[in-house]
Amino acid sequence: MDYTVEEKEAFMREALREAEIALKHDEIPIGCVIVKDGEIIGRGHNAREELQRAVMHAEIMAIENANVSEESWRLLDCTLFVTIEPCVMCSGAIGLARIPNVVYGAKNQKFGAAGSLYDILTDERLNHRVEVETGILEDDCAAIMQDFFRNRRKK
Ligand SMILES: [Zn+2]
Repeated sequence: MDYTVEEKEAFMREALREAEIALKHDEIPIGCVIVKDGEIIGRGHNAREELQRAVMHAEIMAIENANVSEESWRLLDCTLFVTIEPCVMCSGAIGLARIPNVVYGAKNQKFGAAGSLYDILTDERLNHRVEVETGILEDDCAAIMQDFFRNRRKK
């Protein structure tokens, strides 16, 4: 992955835009973009409430979107940017799509499977290993989640 810090922040800002779409639907604000050769080829946001689909996490929507635009299930040479650490399901899907690079903003201590609870993306027993980078716009990615849960508790 040879993007500069500025480029990574710009892509993460696009993922944050997706998170804001989720927020508009009053759902957990997580957003994702998939980038190939400096271009966004897939976008997604958590849409569990919007679509009433249990598995429609931001990463899944972005992978589906990128599969369609690439006309391929393999997303080689791609980097997935997501605002929050991927869960078990999404980490599995990242491997299945053969995505080699993942950049996420903030950790998810309760559900994270890319370093927190599990480390599926770099587990040596699996045949697909992913380069993982964390902490890009971490404060912004965490803040939108904290605001959401704080507001929800008030309701
Ligand atoms: Zn997930």
